[in-house]
Parts: sequence; structure tokens; C-alpha cells
Amino acid sequence: MTPRPSVVVIGAGLSGLAAAWELSGGATESPDAPRIEVLEAAGRVGGPLVLGELGGQAVDLGPDGFLARRPEARTLIEEMGLADDLIDIGASGASLWLRGQLHPIPRSLALGVPASMAPLRELGGLSWRARAAAWRDRVAPRALPVGDDASIGEIVRAKLGDEIAANVVEPLVGGIQAGRIDDLSAAALLPGLLAAAQRGGSLLRAMAAGAPSPVPSGAPGPAFHSLRGGLGTLPLALADRLDSRGVVVRTATTVQAVRRVTGEHPLVVETAHTATPADAVVVATPAPVTAALLGSWDPDLAALGSVAYAAAAMVSASYPEAMAALPAGTGVLVPLGTPWAGGGTMIVTALTFLDRKWEHLRQPGRALVRAHVGRSDDQRYAAFDDEHLRARVADEVALLLGWSARPTEVHVQRFLPGLPQYRVGYLDLVARARAAAARGGVDLAGSTYDGVGIPAAIGSGRRAARAARARLAERR
Ligand SMILES: Cc1cc2nc3c(=O)[nH]c(=O)nc-3n(C[C@H](O)[C@H](O)[C@H](O)COP(=O)(O)OP(=O)(O)OC[C@H]3O[C@@H](n4cnc5c(N)ncnc54)[C@H](O)[C@@H]3O)c2cc1C
Repeated sequence: MTPRPSVVVIGAGLSGLAAAWELSGGATESPDAPRIEVLEAAGRVGGPLVLGELGGQAVDLGPDGFLARRPEARTLIEEMGLADDLIDIGASGASLWLRGQLHPIPRSLALGVPASMAPLRELGGLSWRARAAAWRDRVAPRALPVGDDASIGEIVRAKLGDEIAANVVEPLVGGIQAGRIDDLSAAALLPGLLAAAQRGGSLLRAMAAGAPSPVPSGAPGPAFHSLRGGLGTLPLALADRLDSRGVVVRTATTVQAVRRVTGEHPLVVETAHTATPADAVVVATPAPVTAALLGSWDPDLAALGSVAYAAAAMVSASYPEAMAALPAGTGVLVPLGTPWAGGGTMIVTALTFLDRKWEHLRQPGRALVRAHVGRSDDQRYAAFDDEHLRARVADEVALLLGWSARPTEVHVQRFLPGLPQYRVGYLDLVARARAAAARGGVDLAGSTYDGVGIPAAIGSGRRAARAARARLAERR
């Protein structure tokens, strides 16, 4: 009897766990699955997905929802038999803090870049100059030669002016990525914007005229889903299911090297105490770790070490305020450089109203508010200890929401390395790295490659697993 091949997955974030799920058969456990071992450096699985308790309820201290229009997360949850735990977001819309006030964000700006003048007329807090700059794009557009990629900031500044770039696109697009639109790649993050810019002429007209638009299609149904017990239950449940399929998931196990060898198995995965022979390896670690593990194989893999990350923190708090006291919608976005009364600028980049988003968390007389801090070029929060951070965030929340309440319970959760920054030229960098890894018999997975976000991470892991399976089939 031929021995079962062996696959090692490095990293038990969602992409690594999803890779193991796919390798073990996906929807239906496969009797022909290889031996699968998942090695995770941290003491728990799930990467940034982490559960805590606030006001006696389980609450996500990390990611709390995922985009509904991408199928990967929902499909996995259904395959795991958890469809009944799926919940829909209970609110929509958000506000933008401009000129010392909250302004509702027009719905057609949901993904950050205007496709017409209408949302810019509707959005309060913009100066007449900002609107005039956008209007000029329609009547006398500025020329901007655009090649295969450009930064989102370069396009928006040239076409719609600096104020719309700083006060609209930066908080809506840069904020989600915890980065700066002047660095972020339009090709990777907003291909519709790049296509519109490449057409030349008016950006607003090009986007309105049907260049693939970053504005959502208006498909029916909720925009986001979560799980009733918190999204942090997903990696735990997945690790359980994998365990029952015979997949070994080892936490507190840091991989130190992956070596190509000659012999029965082409690869060996090394930790401080073990050397595991493998027929295929899926590397689902953050880019700098992947570069450290594989960089000596090929300069294109070493180049992953240049991927910048934006560390971030989330301060989740319970306030003794009725939720009705909160502005409508799911939260608030704060532009970079917003002045702070205590001197300098605000550190909070966004607020999320957790119990507005997720109905099961609602309780009378209290509100669960999460503040986000940390951008690629604003790491001031990292110098604050938790107590200092709680106090500063509570002061900024009080200003943003116009209330004097202090939180009764607070959790500070810090995220390292944080979010990968898809900078200009990113697609080329990751395509080369992926090809180099494949030449070495290894597949790469995770938010470095196929987009940041839970569905993207799951899709990425499953894609890498399919490539690994195909590799095993070829070797037979
Ligand atoms: C603060 C924050 C908020 C977010 N909010 C949302 C949200 O609300 N909705 C959404 O859809 N997405 C959100 N995201 C994005 C989403 O969480 C990620 O894209 C996704 O979880 C990434 O999964 P991954 O498997 O690629 O990486 P990770 O989850 O980072 O997994 C990589 C794993 O590799 C392990 N590892 C590292 N080095 C080694 C080693 N040497 N050996 C073994 N293991 C190692 C790490 O410990 C980690 O567990 C958020 C991300 C962050 C950081």
C-alpha cells in the first residue's frame, strides 16, 4: 500500500485553516485526503479573530463581520453546518466627522470613490472649493497619464482635488486598509478606479459611463454577515471540525525553516524541536514571515519582506448610554489629521457601534462602541500603555459622539503585524512570489495575496490547497 502523502500548513489563521479544510475534502470529508498537520506559532488559532466578553456577552474584539457579496466565508460556514448561526448586519450607513460635526455618508459613496457629483453635493462638511474641483473634472478634466498601476491618491488628487482625496477617499478607502491612499495600489484595491483613470478625460464621467465601478451594484440582501456567538467562534469551530477529521493542529509551534531536500519527501518543515517531512507545504503566514522562511530560495520570495504592515488596535467599550443617543448607522469615520483639542491630531480613525450592527448584542441602557486606532503612518497609539490608550480614546469618543459618558468596561486589543499594505506595484510582487514558491513546490495563502478580509483569506487558503493537491496528484 502506498503511504498517504503528507501536507504541512504553516499558520492557523483563517487562510491556513481553510487550506486544511479543503485538503481534508472540503464540504465532504475525503477518504483519500493526505495526512495534514497545521503548525501555528501563537497559542491559539484564528489570527486577528479573537473573542472577549463585554457586559456579560461574548463580543468580537477583532474582526466582527464579513462582506456578504463574496461567497467564500458563507460557503465555508454552510459546509461546516453552521448556516443557522449566520446573522445579518442590523444597520447600514455611517457618518463622517468633518469640520467638527458628523455628516451622514451618502450611500453611493459606500466604497469610497464618487461616481458622480450627486454624493458630493449631498455630503455636508465639504467646502465649495472641494465641490468646484470635482465639477471641474466634468467640464475641464485634468490630464493624467496612467499606466498599469497608480496610487489611489494620485488619481483622486489629480482628478477631484486634494480636499476630496483627504476628507472623503482617505477615510473611506485608506481607513479600511489602515493605510494611505497615496501609497495604496489602485490596480489591487480599486481596479474600477484605475480603469476609469486609464480612459482619460473626466474621472466622474468615465466611472458613471460604466468602467467597472467600485460602487456596489445594489444587489439585494445585507452587506455584511457575522455569527451569532461572534465571528471569533469560526476559527475555533473550524479547528474542532479539522480535529474530528484527523487533521493535527499544533498551536504554540513556530516554524523556523522550510527546506527542499532530496529523498522520499521533497520538503522538510522545521520547528525548534521537530523536522516534519512533507510532500507539499502551504505557507499561510504574514508576508515578512514567509520571506524569512522561503526568501533564500528566490529573490522574488525574499521580496515579500518588503510588504509593509499597518499595526492597529481596537478599544471596545461598554457605555452607560442608550443606543438611541448614537448617530444613525454602523459607525463614524475620522479623516487623518483631524485636530484634537488636547493638541496635535486625533488618534481614533473610526468608531464601530457594535450593538447597532449586531442585534443580538442589544441591551437597553447601554451602547457597545469600538474605537479603531493605528494607520500605516500613525503608530502613536503604540507608545501608549493600555490605561493611557483607554483614557485618550474615551476623550476622543466623547467629542465625536457629543456625550459625557465614560465607559464602564473596556478591552484593548492590539494587532500585530496588522494589515498588509497593497502598495503600487503590489499585484506584480505577489504574482512573482507565488510563481517562485510554486517552482519550489510550495503554495502561498493568506491576506498578502488575494485581498484583505475574511472571505478573501478563506478563498486564498482553499485555492492554495487545491494547487497543493494538484501537485500531489502529479507526483503519484
Ligand atoms: C485589526 C483588524 C481588523 C480586521 N477586521 C476585519 C473585518 O471586520 N472583516 C473582515 O472581513 N476582515 C477583517 N480583517 C482582515 C482579516 O481579519 C484578515 O484578512 C484575515 O483574518 C487574514 O487571515 P490570514 O490567514 O491571511 O492571516 P492571519 O490570520 O494573520 O494568519 C497567519 C497566522 O500565521 C501565524 N504565524 C506567523 N508566523 C508563524 C510561524 N513562523 N510559524 C507558524 N505560524 C506562524 C500567525 O500567528 C497567524 O495565526 C481585519 C484585520 C485586522 C488586523
